[in-house]
Amino acid sequence: MLAAIYNGNKTFEVRNHILPTLGFNELLIKVDSCGICGTDKHIFSGSAPSSIPIILGHEYSGTIVDLVNTSSEFKIGDKVAIDPNIYCGYCNYCRRGNINFCENLKALGVTLNGGFAEYSIVPSSQAYLLPEDFNLSIASFAEPLSCCLRGIERAEIKPGNSVVIIGGGSIGLLMVQLAKNCGASKVLLIEPDHSKHELGLELGADFVFDPKEENLYDHIYDLFNGYVDVVIECVGSKTTVDDAIKIAGKGGKVVIFGLTPADQSINLNPQYLFHKELKIINSFLNPFTFQSAVDLLVNKKIEVLKLITQQIHLNEIPDFFSNNVVSNNIKVQLINNQRRSYE
Ligand SMILES: [Zn+2]
Ligand SMILES: [Zn+2]
Repeated sequence: MLAAIYNGNKTFEVRNHILPTLGFNELLIKVDSCGICGTDKHIFSGSAPSSIPIILGHEYSGTIVDLVNTSSEFKIGDKVAIDPNIYCGYCNYCRRGNINFCENLKALGVTLNGGFAEYSIVPSSQAYLLPEDFNLSIASFAEPLSCCLRGIERAEIKPGNSVVIIGGGSIGLLMVQLAKNCGASKVLLIEPDHSKHELGLELGADFVFDPKEENLYDHIYDLFNGYVDVVIECVGSKTTVDDAIKIAGKGGKVVIFGLTPADQSINLNPQYLFHKELKIINSFLNPFTFQSAVDLLVNKKIEVLKLITQQIHLNEIPDFFSNNVVSNNIKVQLINNQRRSYE
């Protein structure tokens, strides 16, 4: 089969890859689509680790075309979304229920071959069954959505809360919708790219601000009468984390969701935190949230197709990663069949 293999040092190679024979409890998935994620770009640029060589891609879905399994719920032809994170189940963290801290964590598309390929071998524990006619481009959002759900769970947004989301990329736009689903009374999205503002409003934000606008903090203070319950930072930079801490109201919570580069630090003024009784929260991976993500997508509670701004094929992967053009893309998806309408 054809696969885009990452060889390290910013080099991809699209070539034939011979799949091993299926093992017990494994499924052979014909990959339909695979979202390209910030993590893939971090791995490509050397700022996140992975096995090498490796087939990257951890946001994927497809159809089961073969299986070696007598006891599973699956059959050939089933459509499935894949949870890439494989927890061991027996380490100290797993046995205490903190599976995302698993000491033996493996991840499809990071340490094991993933979805930038025509086919992928997946342990059946990682597959989540979808309805027969389900759009697999939608299903490929289950992984990022499951990670957002972890952030939302940690934020404990309550009905009536006021929420500020920083960053209108695909994660920010999922967070806007989840915050709204939690019953937030006001959702403000902060995003510098004006081409994303309309979509932000359409997906549930009540207001969209440009972070460069003058007197931003005063403007937000007035809008919320000084009371911002939850700020979710979805960019991953020192500046936006600083902004999030400034924007959160007294007694508020800041979720630092974006992955800030390893060499960036923030200055925290303890007295400032003291006066605000601020809670700073992080969110790592997707423990026990994947089924909820699938359920939200299947039941059309979250809009994702509008987030897809580009579809590429396997042979376009090397150029896509090495060109690294700054664009106003929201979500780019690798697709293995013909380009289709995602409107
Ligand atoms: Zn991802
Ligand atoms: Zn473990």
